[in-house]
Amino acid sequence: MSNRPDVNPELKLVFDEPVQRKKAPKHLADFSPAERKVWAKELGFQPFRAAQVATHYFSHLSTNSEDWTDIPAAERSAIAKALTPKLIELVTTRTTDNGMTRKDLWKLHDGVLVESVLMRYTDRVTVCISSQAGCGMNCPFCATGQAGLTRNLTAGEITEQIVAAARACANGELPGGEARLSNIVFMGMGEPLANYNAVVRTLHNITDSNPDGLGISARSVTVSTVGLVNGIEKLMDEGINCTLAVSLHTPDDELRDSLVPINSRFKVREVLAAADAYEKKTGRRYSIEYALIRDINDQSWRADLLGRLLKSRNAHVNLIPLNPTPGSKWTASRREDEEEFVRILENYGVPVTVRDTRGREIDGACGQLAAAEKSK
Ligand code: SAH
Repeated sequence: MSNRPDVNPELKLVFDEPVQRKKAPKHLADFSPAERKVWAKELGFQPFRAAQVATHYFSHLSTNSEDWTDIPAAERSAIAKALTPKLIELVTTRTTDNGMTRKDLWKLHDGVLVESVLMRYTDRVTVCISSQAGCGMNCPFCATGQAGLTRNLTAGEITEQIVAAARACANGELPGGEARLSNIVFMGMGEPLANYNAVVRTLHNITDSNPDGLGISARSVTVSTVGLVNGIEKLMDEGINCTLAVSLHTPDDELRDSLVPINSRFKVREVLAAADAYEKKTGRRYSIEYALIRDINDQSWRADLLGRLLKSRNAHVNLIPLNPTPGSKWTASRREDEEEFVRILENYGVPVTVRDTRGREIDGACGQLAAAEKSK
């Protein structure tokens, strides 16, 4: 840490919210199971009500207190309102891929908009969620980055997106009938490690077994980061062991300084060292996210450099064809350049996949629906 004197351990300097706003209502999902009891008591309820409500919320995905028959009828509605206030309200839903991809736009208590995307595949259902409204990382190719950071989401607001997705699956709202939400990726709006405490609380809400949480396996949860080294170093000690994805986008510092501006603080070498340490501690292979941008970062010499950097690491490369943002001069790589990039990495023995581009027609990627809504 000594060579990074300007970043304090609480991630304060770079990542503080710009504006102090009216706080979101407190929610059961903001607290650990032990804290939930204390909080329920503070609100004037019996402490064991917290676990009852957690069972309805996480195990039964129910917010309809009429059904909460283990709680006296006269108290149900007051307890539900106090412990599980509605934090996200659906504004619009757009679907594509015959309904197998669905994008929800949510309004928060203060009118702020965030989005989540639910995707059904043959073997799994994945939800991509937002951890912040906007983002402060300012990556020039990302729609969210262009708008700046509005505010951090609370753990309750992040968890509500996941519970809503789990409920949609359980209710059979996606074609193919009832399903179980199996995967969660922090690849919507925001930089999850810049909203560290709320994200870690959410990770517990996801992975804790019923009724404390949703009981989803940590290996099915991916936290995608721009490469906040101090956040990665903290996360590996939480004992959660979720999958880490690092948005590298180029193997050289010179270009990365402009593609991922936080690289001026955390260099490629340091980011990879932190990811290696994470892999060592958790036993999880990590992903390298790489948006292929035509003639910017898709040259074969960069593939070669990336291959050399990764060949002895336990990492997997996820190439993402650039989804051009409105007004951007950049576009996706040519098919032949993409294929050559893949071939070079494979020659180094580096596992590589090209991400499918689900949801593009519905602005399904990277803050574009929220951006479209704002510009109406
Ligand atoms: N802040 C996190 C999550 C961002 S979204 C992070 O940086 O990892 C998840 C991924 O989508 C990131 O790798 C991000 O760089 C990438 N991405 C953002 N805008 C994109 C675009 N226009 N086209 C393709 N990928 C994009």
